[in-house]
Amino acid sequence: MNVADAIAGARKIVIKIGSNTLAKADGTINTDFMDGFAAQCSDLIARSKQLVIVSSGAQVAGMSALNRWTRKKDIHYRQALCAIGQVELMYQWRAAFFKYGIHIGQLLFTKEDFTHDYRTLNMRNTLFTLVDEGVLPVINENDSVCVEEIRIGDNDNLSALTAELWSVDLLILFSDIDGVYTANPKENPGAELIQKVSDIDELKKHISIGKTNAFGTGGIETKLQAAEKMFACGIPMILANGGKERILENLASGSADATLFCCD
Ligand code: GLU
Repeated sequence: MNVADAIAGARKIVIKIGSNTLAKADGTINTDFMDGFAAQCSDLIARSKQLVIVSSGAQVAGMSALNRWTRKKDIHYRQALCAIGQVELMYQWRAAFFKYGIHIGQLLFTKEDFTHDYRTLNMRNTLFTLVDEGVLPVINENDSVCVEEIRIGDNDNLSALTAELWSVDLLILFSDIDGVYTANPKENPGAELIQKVSDIDELKKHISIGKTNAFGTGGIETKLQAAEKMFACGIPMILANGGKERILENLASGSADATLFCCD
């Protein structure tokens, strides 16, 4: 299987957009990216794909909207920023998708939600109902109610939990790199892109895992954790650079760089 096959064969897809993809270098929300992304999603939906978006960016959007507290590391300020930014984020997503006649619905999950049978049943039902009715769910962690100890903490893992919950055919993680490299490509010009991964333990022996960058909380480590979750459920996962022009279309046609995680 290659990336194009994985997209062609998938009906239900979860797509995760990282903070680094959503934010410009100056920390403001990249509405041009959102517009372009909404256009590509609308094409996929027109081709009978069902989509769920996991969107990071609440904290970045909060900083950008308020233009203060940027340096405050205190959890209360960060949670307050997420409360402010989540509204901004959804306002921008709503505007972007509305141009294509697509309504969006917001779901905010916590780690605990995924451990309760009754809650997961309701989360699942809401997702199915929204998608069946042609509404696009946009999910984030409920950052304002989660303290450090009980957070999922990164949207790579949240996307994987959502993918499992909604029983998807494919998970796509959009980050600011083209995929998994043998070393950090920003520091090592000789680093090579690994196009396909079928064994995470084997992969870990051959790559060096650096730390996270700019606005994101994840980094390659949480992407591999998400991939491990997907391997356990037999769901393929694609890691690609969300900031690249027409990325969804180019992945579908097999012309974009990416790493595909799958067993076959
Ligand atoms: N939930 C966080 C936010 O919206 C982002 C988590 C992540 O970057 O993975 O700011």
